[in-house]
Amino acid sequence: MAGKIDPSHLQDPALRPIAEKLGAGQRLTPADGLALYATADLLGLGLLADWANRRKNGDRVFFSANQHINPTNVCVLRNTCTFCSFARMPKEDGAYTRSLDEVFHEAEQARGMPTREFHIVGGLHPKLRLSYYTDMIRGLKQRHPEVHIKELTAVEIAHLARIERTSERAVLLAMKEAGLTSLPGGGAEVFSTAVRATIAERKLTGEEWLRVHRTAHELGIPTNCTMLYGHVESAEDRVAHLGMLRALQDDTGGFLTYIPLAYHPDRNELGEEMGRVGTATTGYEDLKNIAVARLFLDNIPHVKTHWPMVTPFLSQIALSFGCDDVEGTVVYERIYHEAGARTDMHLPYLELVRLIRGAGKQPVERDSLYRAVREQFDDPPPEPALHRGPTLPVVHAA
Ligand code: SF4
Repeated sequence: MAGKIDPSHLQDPALRPIAEKLGAGQRLTPADGLALYATADLLGLGLLADWANRRKNGDRVFFSANQHINPTNVCVLRNTCTFCSFARMPKEDGAYTRSLDEVFHEAEQARGMPTREFHIVGGLHPKLRLSYYTDMIRGLKQRHPEVHIKELTAVEIAHLARIERTSERAVLLAMKEAGLTSLPGGGAEVFSTAVRATIAERKLTGEEWLRVHRTAHELGIPTNCTMLYGHVESAEDRVAHLGMLRALQDDTGGFLTYIPLAYHPDRNELGEEMGRVGTATTGYEDLKNIAVARLFLDNIPHVKTHWPMVTPFLSQIALSFGCDDVEGTVVYERIYHEAGARTDMHLPYLELVRLIRGAGKQPVERDSLYRAVREQFDDPPPEPALHRGPTLPVVHAA
């Protein structure tokens, strides 16, 4: 359990009243959020966030043995999400859409492995129907009954509802009946209307994204939430975004974890406009976004560091800046590597354990619902024999 905060460790006087509020169990205001973003006292900010995290999670750090699968990169918004490097037009070079057999083939890597979650997201394909996804879930559950399925962002759910001329609730219900466990948190970007007009003009509005998640929560489907930072958004936009997530969580309690996502500028229009390559954020920014989130989102149980974006080493340091949750083994990550992420595609299971222990923390392997499934690692599970690169057969979309 965390002790008291010692204000003498805070260099920035603006952090001291915030420390007092935290000590008294008071909720932070938007003005407090802005003060946290404005501070140059990163270590003081980290101290506060670490304290808040220890109160919730002690020394435990969660990770999952997961596998990312991206069934298609064909997306009808390809020309309007200016930050995206993953999407393609149907006839464009590099466009692919997997048949269900190809998806099942890719998922075979989970067999005999400790994999407990398939994380499945992709583009907004103009022709794939709801049945493609429900058949995928059923087929995966049949072949890997123990593996949880976290599938489709709110944006994809809304797109399917439009294609099927039905409600988002009906899409979510059909997916739940097929065996869906939870929803990932992507597609939130930054909720500000002005920011969306610049980076994601035709995507769901912030209110619509929140509506899909609210509906999922009402149906008993837990979800994750995110914010894409490091592009054109202001500190005010970030705090407003966090405030909207916190308000929904007050109502539903359905968010499991919050994941700040660092924008990557390679091979996308926004990056060209910004004149940036490789990475748009810095380690300082990445740690600050973790810490502010841990302090502001007092009602979301976990804050996750996404190592494919910020590197495993920075993710390890994030464990002392308010973070209790690390992205998992992943196996094959396409979305951020298309945008310039220089990290490996896969982090071996025992490497995750080593990173967490190396930070003085206690690793806990979890399932999609954050139930602990392994806390002793003397008898290590097998590692997958990985395919590297886009070696799987692909079918170009019609
Ligand atoms: S961010 Fe998502 S919705 Fe936008 S173009 Fe990329 S894949 Fe499509």
